[in-house]
Parts: sequence; structure tokens; C-alpha cells
Amino acid sequence: MHSNKRIFIIGGGLAGLTLAYTLSKSKYKVTILEASRRLGGRIHTKKGKLETPLELGATWFSDIHQNLLALLDELGVVRFFQFSKGISLFQTKSFEPAQSFYVPESESPSYRIAGGTQKIIEILSKNLADVEIHLNASVSQVKDLGSEMLIETSDGKRWSAETVVLCMPPHLVGVKILFSPDLPKDFYHLLPTVHTWMAGSVKFVLEYERPFWRENGYSGMLYSHVGIVTELNDHTNVEESKFGFTGFLNSGISSYSQEVRKELVLKQLASLLGNQILNFISYDDKVWTDEYISGGPQKIQRPHQHNGHPLLQESYMNGKLYFSGTETAIQFSGYMEGAIISANNVAEKIKSCF
Ligand SMILES: Cc1cc2nc3c(=O)[nH]c(=O)nc-3n(C[C@H](O)[C@H](O)[C@H](O)COP(=O)(O)OP(=O)(O)OC[C@H]3O[C@@H](n4cnc5c(N)ncnc54)[C@H](O)[C@@H]3O)c2cc1C
Repeated sequence: MHSNKRIFIIGGGLAGLTLAYTLSKSKYKVTILEASRRLGGRIHTKKGKLETPLELGATWFSDIHQNLLALLDELGVVRFFQFSKGISLFQTKSFEPAQSFYVPESESPSYRIAGGTQKIIEILSKNLADVEIHLNASVSQVKDLGSEMLIETSDGKRWSAETVVLCMPPHLVGVKILFSPDLPKDFYHLLPTVHTWMAGSVKFVLEYERPFWRENGYSGMLYSHVGIVTELNDHTNVEESKFGFTGFLNSGISSYSQEVRKELVLKQLASLLGNQILNFISYDDKVWTDEYISGGPQKIQRPHQHNGHPLLQESYMNGKLYFSGTETAIQFSGYMEGAIISANNVAEKIKSCF
């Protein structure tokens, strides 16, 4: 054991798990408390009826995401290119046919993860040596008792720790967690103003037995200013044996039922890619407004507002409390790369202290 000090990580998303992995490699004693019943947070791969890995959360990255690429290489997670060959579509007006275009081969293509983005989470969790993980543990209070910290979850359970790292969106911290004694006023004022990337977005997936769009000369990529579907991408697996799409819906429709969303998606896509779209095997979508990402509507004037703010880099409660998670990262905040940068940053700080 590197140190007998107990480090509690609050939030089992990419940042929390990367931090736990790095600290556990250096023999720190780590516990993760995760509010939901699954690990991964904004990474959420679901298997379709035919076992196709379908992304409801994070999907793409590229060569500029060097910390993510390094972690994938270290863990042996395989990546592959996003398919984009063939006719792509851009629907600009409801009363004009969609425009066709071809995506040129890029020097910096988008990658996906073989088996689904959740593979990173699965492999990270398998590589955690002696890390305790508690699911359904929603932290509601953090108290500084002087020599130690007391953590309380919403079901009244208590844990004590020497160091606490909150790996969740800062806006959610402001809404969900009570600190005692109070943290500085300017810090409280900051929290509601820190934009949470992708909160409120709606992602959908469709699964098929055959890649009929590829057979008909289409890439499966489309963008629309018109219908409920704003973006669509081919979602064939790395082995090219399982087929589907993933894409985004206009977030204004989050109050519609899932049945209505499905009906509108199929109608729009049938008008663009033909009636074969109706032979889907499964449909799913996710509105990212639940209690694990959002503490209610945010008053935000620009994307990534106050991400990586200097106050999020500080430690509090005499060096016993830190903040991590993608929104705290100075670079690539909001993205998977930011989550890893933020975890590496806090790991370095903890390692330099004890
Ligand atoms: C629809 C969508 C598409 C995206 N697409 C991409 C993409 O293509 N490429 C890319 O790089 N990024 C993408 N992202 C962003 C990417 O998912 C995030 O940057 C990354 O996963 C954030 O990791 P994190 O650990 O910082 O936060 P999170 O994943 O949000 O993890 C925070 C964790 O804290 C938990 N938690 C919350 N409250 C509490 C509490 N009170 N107590 C205990 N635990 C708590 C949550 O349940 C969650 O598991 C996308 C996100 C979404 C939603």
C-alpha cells in the first residue's frame, strides 16, 4: 500500500475511473461512489437485439486527443475509422430535395472504439487493483471534520476518507452536494455557471440486419436543418457484421414520448433513404436530462462556459477536496479527452502530496 490514506472518488464516469486506475497503479487505497446503477456516466453503449453495440453517449475522437489515445493503447482498446464512403445528404429546406455530397478522405479521421465506447469503461474497471466500487451511492454531503472527511449518501450511509475527489459535472455538484463548512462564496457562485457538455442532448440508435444504405451507395451520414433528426452516422461494427445508425435529435423534442420520436425519425429517414429504413430490428434513444448529468436547466450564454475555470483547479478543505471531470479540464473540456486530462491532473496533485 502506497499510503494508508483513503481516497474517495465521487462519480464512476471516464474521469473517475481513469483517476482510480492511475492511483491504484501507484498502490493508493481507492473507493468509488457512483450514484447510478452503472459505471460509465456519459459513455453508454447499449446492445441491440442482434447484439450490435449502439452508442447513446460518447462515440467519436481523433488524433488530436493524445491522452485518450495513450490510455487506449495502454489498455489495449482497439479503435477504427468512422465509415463515410458514398453519398451523404444535407437537408436544408423542407420544400427542396436534400443535397448530396461526398466526404473527402481526411488526414485526421474520426475514430470509434471496437466493441463500443463502453469497452474503455469495462477494461478500466477490470484493471482496478483493490478499488472498492459502490453503485447506487448518490453523494449528498461532504463534511470536513478536521483530521478526516465524512461523506454521506442520500440513503444515509456514511464513509470517512482523507481525500475526496468529485468527478462529476460542477453544475451538478452545486445542486446535489452540501459542503460543511461552506466552500468559498465565489466558488458557489461559479458552479451554476459551468456548462455541462451534452446535458439536454438527445441521441438515438437504429439496428438493421443488412446495411441497405451502403448497398444503395449511401454513407449513412446526413445532416438536417428540417426534421427531428439533425445528424445521422453509419454505426456498423468493426467486423462489419452488425449494422445500424446513431445520430442526434433536435433537443426541442425531448418532451415527446419515445414512441412519437421513433415515428418521426422513421418518417424523416424513409423520405431520405427509402422505405427499407422501416425494416429496423431495434430503435432506442436517450434524452440526457436525468439526475446523473443535470441539476435542472442551466443559464448558459456559450458552450463550454467556465469550463476549466481556475477555481476548479484549486483544492479545498485544507487540501482534502479536489474537483475533476471533463468540465474542469483546461483543454478539450466536455470531451472524453478532457475527462482524462482532468483525471491525470488530479492524480499528479495527489501523488505530489502523499
Ligand atoms: C450524447 C452524448 C454524446 C457525446 N459524444 C461525445 C463524442 O463523440 N466524443 C467525446 O469525446 N465526448 C462525447 N461526449 C462527452 C463525453 O461523454 C464526456 O466528456 C465524458 O464521458 C465525461 O466523463 P466524466 O467522467 O467527466 O463525467 P460523467 O461521464 O458525467 O461522469 C460523472 C459520473 O458521476 C455520477 N454522479 C453524478 N452525481 C453523483 C453523485 N451525487 N454521487 C455519486 N456519483 C454521481 C454520474 O452518475 C456519472 O457516472 C458525449 C456525451 C453525450 C451525453
